[in-house]
Formats: sequence, structure tokens, C-alpha cells
Amino acid sequence: MANIKLENVQKSFGDETVIHDVNIDIRDGEFVILVGPSGCGKSTLLRMIAGLESVSGGEVQIGGTVVNDMPPKARDIAMVFQSYALYPHMTVAENMGFSLKLSKVDKAVIEEKVNNAAAILNLGPLLKRHPRELSGGQRQRVAMGRAIVRDPQVFLFDEPLSNLDAKLRVSMRTEIKELHQRLKTTTVYVTHDQIEAMTMADRIVVLHQGYVQQMGTPLELYDHPANLFVASFIGSPG
Ligand code: ADP
Ligand code: MG
Repeated sequence: MANIKLENVQKSFGDETVIHDVNIDIRDGEFVILVGPSGCGKSTLLRMIAGLESVSGGEVQIGGTVVNDMPPKARDIAMVFQSYALYPHMTVAENMGFSLKLSKVDKAVIEEKVNNAAAILNLGPLLKRHPRELSGGQRQRVAMGRAIVRDPQVFLFDEPLSNLDAKLRVSMRTEIKELHQRLKTTTVYVTHDQIEAMTMADRIVVLHQGYVQQMGTPLELYDHPANLFVASFIGSPG
């Protein structure tokens, strides 16, 4: 586990600044949700934490280390994508172990880590199947399994539930929260869905047009919205 600190973080593409002076402190083991409308800069901010996008100004720290110039692989983070990012030609076990295989981890160690993750995610009986033979929820669990096997100090999620149907989305929220309660890995989770944010987050960061509008617990945002944008965004029906 590790804390994450963003200090005056900025991002520009050409002469367009899409992230303005963001300051966020995320505690060790915390589950923080970045929420805001489409295009407000959520993915860009997450990708800067992951190292998939360079930082135009300011500092990103993970576990007290400045990581601005550190490649993604050296950051000990795992990013969870939408379930369609699975490799169709690989089994569930191969999908989950693939990144470890790339890192030349011993075969027996990979098998043990995959089995452990499968047990946590109830994927044990499905390890030999291919993604096309799985339901949407099972695929999403495999996508999480790929992150868990690496035992990272930080999990990053970018709208992981957005291509699931409404009913499954609700049950997966609970599963992801239970996973976090169990592993207590520091997590940054991006969504445009305010209900998801209100029900899952320890703390929420509301982003609008590249500016942080407010950071606080769901209750703090609900009871004391910092401005009209937060009030209408949080209060609007999902
Ligand atoms: P969100 O994830 O909240 O929908 P993004 O972080 O994807 O928003 O995008 C924020 C802004 O940055 C948008 O205006 C988007 O068009 C712009 N943007 C994102 N990536 C790039 C890029 N590689 N080049 C130019 N503009 C980009
Ligand atoms: Mg996005």
C-alpha cells in the first residue's frame, strides 16, 4: 500500500490545458473516486498517476517518491480496464498470469498467484475457459484478477463498469468494495456516475473542466457542497 500525492499537477495538450493545478492527497489504503462529466479530465489525471501520460507541471508522488520521470512498470501500480480488454485467444488463467509471464516470473509462482486471485474472485472453476465463454460479470472479475496477481501497492480503475448492464453494475460495485475491504490496497477509481461515487468512495474528488471542485466524503459533499456545480452534479438523479 502507498499514499498518493498530487501537487500542482497540470496537463496540457498543445496549447490546451486540460488539468489545472490539481492538489490531492490520497491516504494509504483509501478508496478515492474521481468523478465528473465526460471530458473533464478524469482519465488524463489517472493516466498521469499510472505514468501512461507525462505531467506538464507539478509533482506526482507515490509512497513518498516523486514518480514524474518513472515509467509505468516501475510504479508498482495496476490498472483495471473494462472487461473487453481481455485477450480473446487466452484462457482465464493465461489472461490473469500474462503480465507476470512478461516479467519472467517463475511458472510455479504464477500458478500460485493466479490460483490465489481466482479463489478471492470466485473464478476457480472458470480458469480454463476463454473470455467468450464468460458472462459480463465474470469477465470483469478476470479483469480485476489480472491486477490482483501483481499484488500492486496501488489499484487504478477507469470506468470499469461502464459497459455492463445496470443490474450487473450494481452487484459489481459491491464486489469491488468487498475486494478493497479485503486487500486494503490504495485505490483511485474513475467514474462519471455520481451514484457509483456516492455509494463506493471513502472520499470523492469532483472534477469539472480540469479543476478540482471539492474533495470530501460522500456525506460532506452531500451536506456541504462547495459550489453550485457540486450541488447539481451530486444531487442530480442517476
Ligand atoms: P474524461 O476521462 O473525464 O472523459 P479525458 O481525461 O479523457 O476526460 O479528457 C480531458 C480533455 O483532454 C478532453 O478535452 C480531451 O479531448 C482532452 N484529451 C485527452 N487526451 C488527449 C490527447 N491525447 N490529445 C489531445 N487532447 C486530449
Ligand atoms: Mg475517461
